[in-house]
Amino acid sequence: MLNLILFGPPGAGKGTQSEKILVKYNLKHISTGDLLRAERNAGTELGNQANEFISKGELVPDAVVIGMVKNFMADNTDAKGFIFDGFPRTIAQAEALDSMLTDFNTEISIVLGLEVNEDELVTRLLLRGQTSGRADDQSEDTIRNRFQEYLNKTLPIQNYYSAKNKYFGVEGIGEIDQIFESLCDHLDKIS
Ligand code: AMP
Repeated sequence: MLNLILFGPPGAGKGTQSEKILVKYNLKHISTGDLLRAERNAGTELGNQANEFISKGELVPDAVVIGMVKNFMADNTDAKGFIFDGFPRTIAQAEALDSMLTDFNTEISIVLGLEVNEDELVTRLLLRGQTSGRADDQSEDTIRNRFQEYLNKTLPIQNYYSAKNKYFGVEGIGEIDQIFESLCDHLDKIS
């Protein structure tokens, strides 16, 4: 299996690149942000609880997202591999993912990090907020809070995977196709 974590701060382009990667490598895409928004839009209790965190730009509790990813993987046992987008976001999530993949007799193949500076991210997210309909893309305070959560809780994951020689950074500013090619260069070496 090819199991990729597409890593990077909010607005780095993980969703955009995931859409292209999943077609080329025939992978299943798991975006915990998309799954949480689907729950919220369906008005489930989980969705309503999650929305209190999402609207403040805070991370949703680990147990909630880990449970969702477990269910998604159990529903896709025929997958050739997964792209994890927006997950894991804490060390506890990374450890839980490792153990879920072990149960699948597989492991994380590679972690590719899209590198984009904070000012560019804020500009991109405010622009996306004009069309995405996402409340958390519309306030600069919420966006900056999401970035703080990323620095405090998510960035340590980079070292977690670097220590396993699985993390590679990719320049995340430039043409979409050019960034996609840089990602493919890494993936082609291991697939
Ligand atoms: P995203 O669409 O990935 O930017 O996620 C939007 C929001 O959903 C985040 O700001 C968090 O509030 C929540 N969220 C998404 N994925 C996770 C995760 N893996 N752990 C905790 N919260 C998450």
